[in-house]
Amino acid sequence: MELDFVARVIASIPPDPRLEVPPGDDAAVIRPPAGRRTVVTVDMLMDGVDFRLGSDCTPLQVGHKALAVSLSDLAAMAARPEVAVAAVALPRHQGDEIGRGVLDGMLALAARHGITLAGGDTNAWDGPLVVSITALGSVPPGAAWRRDGAHAGDLLVVSGACGGSLLGRHLAVTPRIDEALAVAAAFEVHAAIDVSDGLSLDLSRMMLASGTGAILDLAAVPIHPDAVIMAARDADRLAPLDHALGDGEDFELLLAMPAAEALRLAAAPVAGTRFTVIGEVTSGSGLSVRQADGTTAALAPRGYEHAFDG
Ligand SMILES: [Mg+2]
Repeated sequence: MELDFVARVIASIPPDPRLEVPPGDDAAVIRPPAGRRTVVTVDMLMDGVDFRLGSDCTPLQVGHKALAVSLSDLAAMAARPEVAVAAVALPRHQGDEIGRGVLDGMLALAARHGITLAGGDTNAWDGPLVVSITALGSVPPGAAWRRDGAHAGDLLVVSGACGGSLLGRHLAVTPRIDEALAVAAAFEVHAAIDVSDGLSLDLSRMMLASGTGAILDLAAVPIHPDAVIMAARDADRLAPLDHALGDGEDFELLLAMPAAEALRLAAAPVAGTRFTVIGEVTSGSGLSVRQADGTTAALAPRGYEHAFDG
């Protein structure tokens, strides 16, 4: 049954010139693109933590999300997607059907972004579905975006809009690959991160890495319509803006750029996506907000963090 599954997986992967030895051997052999650096990222998604397999979350969506979050990390480095490998722990019950769905979800997104599946490992166990993907991308030497390059005086720019991802975008993740590559080709970017755990939390991580602080212009933060819907339903009365600042899983790009470059980027959509200036990098540390009346206040970053003991 496992052999059968693996054979079908291999058969469903289109041949790719980047693979000197294709999937099916003990290991794949990759031809690295000439004159470029390799960018590597790994993510693990677990049923019960990152998704809940069931009527509102199919194996197809899990496969899509597993690859999409890795692609989002490549986008945050301005890397072009090249090759991925996947490890999947399938529940014994309906494992074959689940595995098929996960693979189909991965392959559809892989085709869209020109990344090829070079191989993987499939196990079955009595536990829940776990999917881990390692994705490789490439960048010209020295061209990868990093978290630690923001300067005081840079403007902060975010793609799309944030908040309310739990209404569906947390599964139907759209990695900003096309946007990142287009921005990298035409704009100067000092620092970048993808918004996975919450706009304010990921901003605080970028500022900490850069040794800078930030002041957010609250009125400028693009709020996703889903954040408005969630706020209207909310028992704990979070405002749409709170959802935009803390929900996470938006998988938007957050960039620190020289002011003139930021304004130029915000002037017109790139790859069909709007970019919005939401604040400024400052010397010092920590986050603060500029309120509608012009006064400022400290902002405690909020978002999702994996909790563990010890
Ligand atoms: Mg990331």
